[in-house]
Amino acid sequence: MKILVPIKRVADPNNANKMKVSPDGKRVVSGDLPWAINPFDEYALEAGLRLLENGATGERFGELVIVTLGPEDVQTTMRQALAMGADRGIHIPIDEEKLDAMIVAQALAAVVRLEAPDLVLMGKQAVDGDSNNVGQMLAEFLGWPMATFAMSIALEGKQIVVGREVDTGVLTLRIELPAVVTVDLRIVLSKSVRNGKTPESHAYPDDVRHISVKGIMAAKKKPIATKTLEELGVQPNLSVRYLRFEVPPARSGSTRYVESVSELVRLLHTEAKVI
Ligand SMILES: Cc1cc2nc3c(=O)[nH]c(=O)nc-3n(C[C@H](O)[C@H](O)[C@H](O)COP(=O)(O)OP(=O)(O)OC[C@H]3O[C@@H](n4cnc5c(N)ncnc54)[C@H](O)[C@@H]3O)c2cc1C
Repeated sequence: MKILVPIKRVADPNNANKMKVSPDGKRVVSGDLPWAINPFDEYALEAGLRLLENGATGERFGELVIVTLGPEDVQTTMRQALAMGADRGIHIPIDEEKLDAMIVAQALAAVVRLEAPDLVLMGKQAVDGDSNNVGQMLAEFLGWPMATFAMSIALEGKQIVVGREVDTGVLTLRIELPAVVTVDLRIVLSKSVRNGKTPESHAYPDDVRHISVKGIMAAKKKPIATKTLEELGVQPNLSVRYLRFEVPPARSGSTRYVESVSELVRLLHTEAKVI
């Protein structure tokens, strides 16, 4: 089995409060914030690695390929994904401000046609653009079935069974491969991924795997190929332009701490009058 995982780099989401808007309102300035793998893509990577291994023995099956669009230094972030266990990478060089979701999806579709993976696993959204539309566009361009916001995935031969949280509970979809699946954070819970190889008794930690020193060393030797948009036959014509960035207005009113739930309910009833 071959799995393709698009990886977007984002400014360190744990320090998003340090992001600033340029005085002319035209750019978001991340200053010297370190780059990180978009968290939802990290969850997709973890789910892909679990699908391709026996979690109890560590034995690996198949191949996991990552692909990233961005400037030269995105390769540093790609190496983190290779250190986690991806086998090789594809870098598509372009400056991020020349990207929109359509260009990203067209480039990913061209890579899929070259690589012919059985499954594309990716984040439901990027925590900076939050567009939540590249996955859907990609499936449309490929004419492939898709599931979004996956919280569980089970491999059954040439099919996958995907669980998705909805208001009324969990929606379960059975999909023929190849397919596109976007993931949500619950996909890395201990029993969320099943592949018929990892024993049912095996419980993964409720998180992505930590990067080991051995993984970092191995990542240095793993290949990252470069494919230009031109080679992929994709025109970088922006169809969505960010015109202006604004900092949201500061929240009015103060924060009030209460001792107990009952006091909270009382205040919501008597003071806020919302219940
Ligand atoms: C300074 C600056 C200016 C920008 N100006 C614009 C603009 O004017 N108009 C515009 O539309 N966009 C602009 N962008 C790009 C924008 O941030 C997104 O890259 C693009 O629009 C895709 O949206 P998203 O990441 O929110 O996609 P989402 O749909 O939220 O992403 C979903 C998934 O798609 C995949 N993905 C997304 N981007 C990449 C990538 N680069 N490499 C690999 N996988 C990826 C990931 O798996 C991600 O989890 C700008 C970016 C920067 C840094």
